[in-house]
Amino acid sequence: PRQVREAAYTYVRPDSFGKTELVGVSKAALRDLAIDPAAVETDDFKDLVAGKKIITLEDGKEPGDSDIYPWAQCYGGYQFGQWAGQLGDGRAISLFETTNPNSGTRYELQLKGAGKTPYSRFADGRAVVRSSIREYVVSEALNALGIPSTRALSLTLAPEARVRRETTEPGAIVARFAQSWLRFGTFDLARSRGDRDLIRKLANYTGEEVFGGWEKLPGKVASTTEPEVVNPARSVAKDELEGENEYQENRYTRLYREIARRNAKMVAWWQAYAFTNGVLNTDNTSIFGLSIDFGPFAFLDNFDPNYTPNHDDHMLRYSYKNQPSIIWWNLVRLGEALGELIGAGSRIDEKEFVKEGVRQDWADDLVKRAETLIEQTGEEYKAVFMAEYKRLMTARLGLKQCKQTDFEELYSELLDTLEALELDFNHTFRKLSYISTEDIDTEEKRKDVAGRFFHHEGLSGLVGSEEDARARVAKWLEKWRARVIEDWPNSPESREERFKSMRAVNPKFVPRSWILDELIERVEKKGEREILGHVMDMALDPFKEEWGWNKEEEERFCGDVPRYQRAMQCSCSS
Ligand code: AMP
Ligand code: MG
Ligand code: MG
Repeated sequence: PRQVREAAYTYVRPDSFGKTELVGVSKAALRDLAIDPAAVETDDFKDLVAGKKIITLEDGKEPGDSDIYPWAQCYGGYQFGQWAGQLGDGRAISLFETTNPNSGTRYELQLKGAGKTPYSRFADGRAVVRSSIREYVVSEALNALGIPSTRALSLTLAPEARVRRETTEPGAIVARFAQSWLRFGTFDLARSRGDRDLIRKLANYTGEEVFGGWEKLPGKVASTTEPEVVNPARSVAKDELEGENEYQENRYTRLYREIARRNAKMVAWWQAYAFTNGVLNTDNTSIFGLSIDFGPFAFLDNFDPNYTPNHDDHMLRYSYKNQPSIIWWNLVRLGEALGELIGAGSRIDEKEFVKEGVRQDWADDLVKRAETLIEQTGEEYKAVFMAEYKRLMTARLGLKQCKQTDFEELYSELLDTLEALELDFNHTFRKLSYISTEDIDTEEKRKDVAGRFFHHEGLSGLVGSEEDARARVAKWLEKWRARVIEDWPNSPESREERFKSMRAVNPKFVPRSWILDELIERVEKKGEREILGHVMDMALDPFKEEWGWNKEEEERFCGDVPRYQRAMQCSCSS
């Protein structure tokens, strides 16, 4: 462990762990990386994803001579709001980059849990089976739902790697991949050291390599971020953003805006699908706008905005409802790291600026401009978040457009009802996807249908009488029905079309904490293997009706969360 200065990564080889067992490979990952499924059976593949073999361009060359040699990234981070200094990839080692020849998408393949690096600090560089199973399943599940995420290719067990946590546990290695593993903390660390040169290099690398060229980065509110639905937020955002712009926004400002927009969209997806990351430190926030770092994450069961999956988060800093503002807090830290670059405006390329640092007579001006730009990016962040959130919620409710009044009367009212009656968030949307307007055209029918949203063992005793609960859900169903009728023609064909489109956005299967717990128990303790593949099949195709494995088991995994396993929490030891 050491302080690594003036560098963004260190070359390091993965460790070997004795006997290993490849227990899972994501079919979706194979597709996206353009790996031939037959290759998975080869020792080359198994050794590679277990960290036993590395690929280098030419044998016998030193790191740096070859284009390919494994490396660990250097970054820092604000943890729970406090600057934590250098962190870095303490147990992640990147192997190589690879471009899918069909899509042209470039990915960086990386092993997690493959041994110590210069960034391991006092820890062992390893990962236990339970956290590895969780990351393997959820990163692929998020991607299948449409949520931007880092991905998982494979899960390898390393029983001979004895990992000491509260007890001694077997180890595991996840091979994972992403368009970029850069974090906000990568920039934070350079800033904390006053390393202007590194910040600029990193920003250039991000613009040119990660985002594929400056010309791909639009300025403020791009029309592509606007949804097709009628959206009140859109005009508001435009008015606010189209004010006088006295100076030119340079490429770094456009880069900052792009990072903000991507993260706005990502967190909108999290809110719309009730996913909580649990540790949104700046080292766990992605420059590419991906869900990244899966520690104590969870999908909400019953809708509770204050829920945090993180057992140690007593202040609820990283609770569900705080996620959009925390991502923005992190973006402000990033704006500060990029402050000199974005504040310099069109002077960015002037010699004096590059070489000697900020000229004194420019300095105040620069700070003011950087502050203004961060603020304006904040407006854009809000607008993009709201537009994306509304777009997703509109689709989840089976509507074609979002009316001015929908936000208050439909979304908020639904969320309040779910919270008050302790109803399951994701199941509610799936259940709505089977309800026709005829099913709920009388008060009596609506009250009857309301019961479908309750847990099968009934309502919790804390939420009041069942009669009141039914009346409340029925009232909302009446409003929803009116909106469906407004948006859709009254015909059996359009009813089927609505069902189909709703079921394509409202998953039947979501990997809740209780399912992951059962999976861990069965794989790790009971030595089962097939179950992992079955759960992955469900996670990779979450909108399906059935998966052809075992009807009863599938329904159990898609059904009510067992009462005493709802809203579980995790500690960070993994
Ligand atoms: P996280 O809480 O997952 O964001 O991790 C925070 C920091 O601790 C990162 O720099 C990790 O690489 C590092 N870290 C976590 N667990 C280990 C471990 N077992 N060995 C080495 N570094 C670790
Ligand atoms: Mg982390
Ligand atoms: Mg982690």
